[in-house]
Amino acid sequence: MEKYRCRCEYIYDPAVGDPKAGIAPGTPFLDLPDTWVCPLCGLPKVNFVKLVAGVIKVKVKCFSTLVKADACDYQGSTEYEMPERATIRDLIEKLQLPVEAIKLVFLNGKEAPVDTLLKDGDQLGFSPATGAM
Ligand code: FE
Repeated sequence: MEKYRCRCEYIYDPAVGDPKAGIAPGTPFLDLPDTWVCPLCGLPKVNFVKLVAGVIKVKVKCFSTLVKADACDYQGSTEYEMPERATIRDLIEKLQLPVEAIKLVFLNGKEAPVDTLLKDGDQLGFSPATGAM
């Protein structure tokens, strides 16, 4: 059965259920009552997304000269699906960004090397050599 992840990282596993909230093991996520909330953070069901095996989702922003209108903007983040075990470099290649022009890579707000493995929910920012940050 499919697992669902809350915004807070909590994962609902139907095999486990949520016994403390009276949800028996074997209860599919979609059968949870609408009154059920995340046992960790209290958010309602609408904040959960289905986990697809082997696929992670990351959000990307590009700054200054790296901005590509449809692929990587600086105002809103663009969400991309990547295979598990993909690195930041793989993402750069997928976006067809000029890797030599990328001076700074931000991973969840901190500088990171391009060989870093991506995790589900990561937020990335790419910045060129020029431009004040
Ligand atoms: Fe939560």
